[in-house]
Amino acid sequence: MGYDVAIIGGGPGGYACAIRCGQIGLATALIEEERLGGVCLNWGCIPTKSLYAATKLLAGAERAAQMGISFSKPEIDLKQIAEWKDGVVSQLTDGVGTVLEKNGVEVVHERGKLAGSGRIDLSSGRTIEADRVVLAAGSRPIEIPGFSFGDEAVWSSTDALALREIPDRLAVIGGGVIGLELATIYRRLGSAVSVIELLPEILSIVDLDRRTVATLKRSLKAIGVEVRTGTKAEGFETVDDGVDVLLEGGSRLAVDRILLAVGRRPKSEDLGLETVGVETDDRGFIRIDDRLETTAEGIFAIGDLVPGPMLAHKASTEGIALADSFDGAAIDLDHDGIPQAIFTDPEIASAGVSEHRAKEDGRSVLVGRFPYAALGKALGMSEPDGFFQVVAGEDDHRILGVQIIGAEASDLISEAAVAVRHGLSLEDVIETVHPHPTLPEGLKEACENALGRAIHVVNRSARKEA
Ligand code: FAD
Repeated sequence: MGYDVAIIGGGPGGYACAIRCGQIGLATALIEEERLGGVCLNWGCIPTKSLYAATKLLAGAERAAQMGISFSKPEIDLKQIAEWKDGVVSQLTDGVGTVLEKNGVEVVHERGKLAGSGRIDLSSGRTIEADRVVLAAGSRPIEIPGFSFGDEAVWSSTDALALREIPDRLAVIGGGVIGLELATIYRRLGSAVSVIELLPEILSIVDLDRRTVATLKRSLKAIGVEVRTGTKAEGFETVDDGVDVLLEGGSRLAVDRILLAVGRRPKSEDLGLETVGVETDDRGFIRIDDRLETTAEGIFAIGDLVPGPMLAHKASTEGIALADSFDGAAIDLDHDGIPQAIFTDPEIASAGVSEHRAKEDGRSVLVGRFPYAALGKALGMSEPDGFFQVVAGEDDHRILGVQIIGAEASDLISEAAVAVRHGLSLEDVIETVHPHPTLPEGLKEACENALGRAIHVVNRSARKEA
């Protein structure tokens, strides 16, 4: 049968695209070789955030002691946590399957490979034909010299999420988002965690201001995560009581397990791209134009396969926008506006550009900040660490970017994302009554601080930045 659209990859990019194609009434096939939901639902966002939430209870129990409520030492049943996490994943992936089915999408549980224009060969030997093909095959973790996922001592993020054991000592190689999120989870579970980062700073590929990163580093230190920046891990040696990570310069770090989290690369090889002339860049990302079309007509690509932040909501936004474009809509994507949440302790979330980036772009900006310690709600939660920061154009007061580090930052950033996406001004946020006592008041006060008129702090930090 010929389809209107065939999609290779059932992650957040592919399945969201398929559902919207189904809603539009296009005959759609979704080809997935492993599990619906892709990395995000099965081995990424959802399992990490489930474990983040579970282990947050441990941190919360410690905090409760400050409020006068003490619990006995928590008992950790690793098997049950893993089962609970797997249950969350299954509930979501089953739900995706149902929604696909109800929207008339045919899910093909096979491996797919391009075999010419509009043709996809399946692992069973069957061939699918479609007017348009969407590539949404995602990404895989990178290995570095000296470390291989084939070694028992070396974990990928997927191994870490399987939760088979709590190592006494864990080395996390890579101080990016995934490494730091898993470092937080394992530290809460009781591992002694050391993060080794080659670059001079952690989170260096995320557009964050130095103050935000410095605040996180202080907090990581406070919970007992050791961070070594500017340090190269060159390999490891198995020793009697574990493994020694070999560091440049000859020093060793004794641990029990190594989590390698040094980034991901697009899974663009072995998709049959050469059969249709789809080009990739030197890092393997598929080249696309503004309409998400590859260098081959009628073949499109989305998500982790194409340049831009490797985020689930970026993938699904592209997938939905692409499907809508098949129905005649224009595509209007803005990578700068894509918010990001980092589930460390405390959380970090950002939308739009940092103060640093805005200045690099030649903007004169106003910067406002407001500390969690001045928010009644945060104090009542015993969560006083962190701050809200807003960056706005000096001339028009339009909000260019927001960074939040502190409790529930991941949930708080969406108001900022609306402001950035729609070019709202400081005054737009200020004039919107925010309920009291709540955490979002922090964003409103940061906007007021940018204009030198926050109510609950002395406005010393309000200043004009050239
Ligand atoms: P994927 O989710 O990778 O899906 C691609 C799918 O294609 C896979 O299911 C694969 O099996 C299938 N496939 C590949 N090749 C073929 C083929 N030839 N035939 C058939 N099927 C094929 N992002 C966030 O936004 N928030 C988070 O909190 C977050 N946390 C993360 C935590 C971890 C540990 C990891 C690893 C990632 C995390 N991410 C997070 C990133 C997020 O998971 C990815 O950005 C997202 O999954 C990309 O979606 P995608 O649809 O492009 O690809």
